[in-house]
Amino acid sequence: MTALPGRLRLTVLGCSSAAPHAAWPASGYLVEWEETTLLLDVGQGVVRRLENLLDPRSLTAVVVGHMHADHYLDLAGLRYLFPWAEQADPRLPLHIPPGARERLDALATAISERSGFFDVAFDIAEYDPAAPLRIGPLTIRFVRSRHYVPAWGLSVEAPDGARLVYTGDTGPSDEMVEFARGADLLLVEAALRRASEDDPARGHLTGEEAIDLARRAGARSALIVHYDPGRRAELEEMCEAAGNWIRPAVASQTRTITPLMRETGTRVLAP
Ligand SMILES: [Zn+2]
Ligand SMILES: [Zn+2]
Repeated sequence: MTALPGRLRLTVLGCSSAAPHAAWPASGYLVEWEETTLLLDVGQGVVRRLENLLDPRSLTAVVVGHMHADHYLDLAGLRYLFPWAEQADPRLPLHIPPGARERLDALATAISERSGFFDVAFDIAEYDPAAPLRIGPLTIRFVRSRHYVPAWGLSVEAPDGARLVYTGDTGPSDEMVEFARGADLLLVEAALRRASEDDPARGHLTGEEAIDLARRAGARSALIVHYDPGRRAELEEMCEAAGNWIRPAVASQTRTITPLMRETGTRVLAP
């Protein structure tokens, strides 16, 4: 499967929350631009789903937003697709948050593998959230989210100006609203049924808060992600009341993301 030439394309591999669900995997989003294939987050079940579409070893790169199980645990499964002992050629570029390197090393120990287990398959780098990350023709930018552990949301910008923003896990955040401003497509989390379920410090959003964040950001379109699939009908209803620009995401759906300029010729692109 290859994206159309010169179009940014998203495929939702999984958008469930942390508890495993038969309907679909935890967080995992495939982003494509021509031959470039980028995987955002690798929650449990994501690699199996990705295998239906392409050989995961052929991905251009993987980027992880934070080190909770539902966003990175399937890196272990992905690793086993590569030779066990000898170094893969090429290794798969893996971009993880600052400080996450030791988590990955600890995971290798936890699953009774030797040190360096991930390194022979992955070319591992901790990204600097203050600096844009270039992956082929795509530019990734990061924003600190409001979560229980260090966590980042991110944007993917395509050469034609199309911009996808993914909140990752976050509580209500003005910084996230600003970061998501004018996104062509926003993936916004809604892990909670009620704000009272959250810690006082907040680390997730309700459906209402997700819609509010997307509306305040002026996102052209949005998908609600990171929710228990059993809540889909309830979220559909909420979104319908908000308008047809926002919907709950479902696994396997694809979206082609085009910049406003293509439609109206009025968008001024930042350099
Ligand atoms: Zn999390
Ligand atoms: Zn999560």
